[in-house]
Amino acid sequence: MPEGPQMVFLKEQAEQFVGQTVLLAEGSAKHVPNNRLQGQVLTEIKTYGKEFLFCFSSFAICIHLMLFGKYAINSRLDRELRLGLEFETGEINFYACDCRLIEKELSEVYDWSTDVMSTLFDKAKALEKLHTKPERQISDAILDQSILAGVGNGIKNEVLYRRQIHPESMVGAIPEVELLKLVNECVKLSFEYLTWIREGTAKQHWQVYQKKECPRDFIPLQKGKTGKQLRSSYYCDRCQRLFLPDVL
Ligand SMILES: [Zn+2]
Repeated sequence: MPEGPQMVFLKEQAEQFVGQTVLLAEGSAKHVPNNRLQGQVLTEIKTYGKEFLFCFSSFAICIHLMLFGKYAINSRLDRELRLGLEFETGEINFYACDCRLIEKELSEVYDWSTDVMSTLFDKAKALEKLHTKPERQISDAILDQSILAGVGNGIKNEVLYRRQIHPESMVGAIPEVELLKLVNECVKLSFEYLTWIREGTAKQHWQVYQKKECPRDFIPLQKGKTGKQLRSSYYCDRCQRLFLPDVL
């Protein structure tokens, strides 16, 4: 599943069309009227977490690649087109994604201070929100897009491993200083991940996600579904500490 850094990378690729007019809009996206798009000038591209936003003068189109979404720039894939935009110098096509029309001001829809890749990201606010549900497992909390927008399952596994925190730790039992370091690591890793995507080296940089052995201890990693969301976690029982409340 694409995470925040993939969306920022897509933005970099698509920015060539900013300032150009949509010559043709096509595709099966139900909530995006193609006739509304034709003739409009693309004014800006933004991202919010895992969402990609084409901005026009009076509305925006939000695209979420979900689990299996794909895109192609100046080429086409052999599958059902969900949304295709043809500009003066090329085209961008989306498949198996969720598309929606946003007519409100984007600032009313999105809180950019929760996006880990935004310059407006507010880590104090992220910590505050983590504390509102102290009983939650950290592996669920870290994927909460209203707290750390853009963090997906790959980043989750890697930051927990880097900070040596077991995914089933309870948020309220993790010391404040460790939670802060974890939030900082989400930001740091997201930007490192973006660099790896640009280089085409992302997979070789993962330490535990979809791996079999702990690079610190050289013992088999545990793999299992954790939290209420039952998302895959890869972790080491030896070097990732399980924080649970003290029982008297
Ligand atoms: Zn280990």
